Amino acid sequence: MMKLSYEQAVAKIKEHSSLGEEEIKSNIDAKLNQFAGLVSKEGAAHIFANELGIKLIDPTAVSKLKINNIMAGMQNVEVLTKVLAVFPVRQFNSKGREGQVGSSILGDETGNIRAVFWNEQANKLAFLNKGDVLKIKGVYVKENRDNSLELHFNDRSTMVVNPPGETVEAQEFKRETPKKRINEIADTDRFVEVFGTVVEVFDLRFYEVCNKCGKRAKPEENNYMCPEHGAVSPDYSYVLNVFLDDGTAAVRTVFFRNVAEKFLKKTAEELLAFREAPEAFEQIKNDSLGSFIKINAKVNKNEMFNRIELIANELEEAKPEDVQLPESTATKSTASTEATSAPEETKATAEPVVPAAPAPEAPATPTTPADATPAAENIQASSEANK
Ligand SMILES: [Zn+2]
Repeated sequence: MMKLSYEQAVAKIKEHSSLGEEEIKSNIDAKLNQFAGLVSKEGAAHIFANELGIKLIDPTAVSKLKINNIMAGMQNVEVLTKVLAVFPVRQFNSKGREGQVGSSILGDETGNIRAVFWNEQANKLAFLNKGDVLKIKGVYVKENRDNSLELHFNDRSTMVVNPPGETVEAQEFKRETPKKRINEIADTDRFVEVFGTVVEVFDLRFYEVCNKCGKRAKPEENNYMCPEHGAVSPDYSYVLNVFLDDGTAAVRTVFFRNVAEKFLKKTAEELLAFREAPEAFEQIKNDSLGSFIKINAKVNKNEMFNRIELIANELEEAKPEDVQLPESTATKSTASTEATSAPEETKATAEPVVPAAPAPEAPATPTTPADATPAAENIQASSEANK
């Protein structure tokens, strides 16, 4: 449904007619009376505009817009944006329907908006990196269930990455995460910021990834299979499990790849060397024990063990002021821009999130395009570390 506020409608009528504002408003009031409560003020404005032959919104018109002018129901939108975050593509399988969905956050100087890519469209995300300028055409606008707007791509949508000569100013995208004590984390939380001391460090675990796209490559007979590239000779990536304790409780916390590098203060090359020499990792484990850190993490309900785990997206050394929590640490709702609306076909279900949820949503940076680690990996990683 198209949405144009009463004031916007009046302004548009004024622009395209010889009528004054007062005259327009009294005509709209007359329509309101005529329809005796059956239409809204905005609806009455549309009816009046129609009578004058003024199209308040032409849904087929290509409109070059700023993000703050984007409205629900718009189609064929053209917008020049900057990529502020790219999230991993997730596979879903719901009520027998399979598919994939991915998203990113796009911004310009007026604001930011979530862009959603279903099925084949989601493959386009592989071409996007944080910081890219992105010109998109032919996208449509949908209102998410939390009333935030989303850009959706379809077969007619096009995008140009880094068009020559175009630049976009945009604010850094920061996901809102409530600061919590570990014992306050609920499985309804999606993201939290916590601090604590690392009280246990498990072995670094390695897994095979596609050498072309960095996605997990699964062993199959004598090969490693990438969902996209078929049989590949694998590269390796790694995941580290620790226990983080803040005095209220301890929680299992997972560090993938670049977060593990940051925590261990080692390069990718140095960490990969431990695959051949795992015994040398013991010293690193001991050195990192007792680290006092602050993390920004996704909350993951591990169904297999019926417990909450954290998957760290960001990590830094905790400073004394990090220990000061706000008076009330009551949950603030986590970033609404992140809420994934269900696919059309699953709208009726209670679960607003695509079912295969636990993949970390760390924004993929140009250097680590492969954060799209499948859910099974978390479970495997933590269950094996649990032995
Ligand atoms: Zn691949």
